[in-house]
Amino acid sequence: MSSNKKIIRKKDFSLLQRLYLPEIFRGLFTTFLQMFKPKITYQYPEERFHPPASFRGRPVLVEEQGVERCVACGLCSRVCPALAIEVQASETELEKERYPVKFEINMVRCIFCGFCEEVCPEEAIVMSNEFELAFSSQEEAIFGKDKLLTPAEKLKERLEFLKQHR
Ligand code: SF4
Ligand code: SF4
Repeated sequence: MSSNKKIIRKKDFSLLQRLYLPEIFRGLFTTFLQMFKPKITYQYPEERFHPPASFRGRPVLVEEQGVERCVACGLCSRVCPALAIEVQASETELEKERYPVKFEINMVRCIFCGFCEEVCPEEAIVMSNEFELAFSSQEEAIFGKDKLLTPAEKLKERLEFLKQHR
């Protein structure tokens, strides 16, 4: 096969289009019309964003009557693609028999995928609506139980959302 075949390109622009000016004014007019449409951008941080229940913010541990729901099965830690979760189990006198004596999430590693939430058999770890995270060191980004435990009442919307969509 010959590769010297001539490619013919047909230019079918009208004279006005070849002048470009009408098209430029058409573009400017489209931009001008946008000024009268409702604004969808938030003037953050002055304007706060209140995420819907489907939002996946930082993962937290659900606390009920002062006790974490977690039974330290370790499934979340095993499924986490970022290897961000560390759980150490211990025995307890409570009915659940096991609890996490240590539960840490490295928030620098976390990619907010929600796999830990999906896999948890106790609905003990859920994605919250918190998204404002800032650290000044790697150590600060490691959240222990003190920062992870959140009362179930505060997570009502997310827990309800999970009930409906699971
Ligand atoms: S949200 Fe994803 S990355 Fe973050 S701790 Fe859970 S499983 Fe790991
Ligand atoms: S949070 Fe859930 S999956 Fe993770 S160790 Fe606790 S009970 Fe198991």
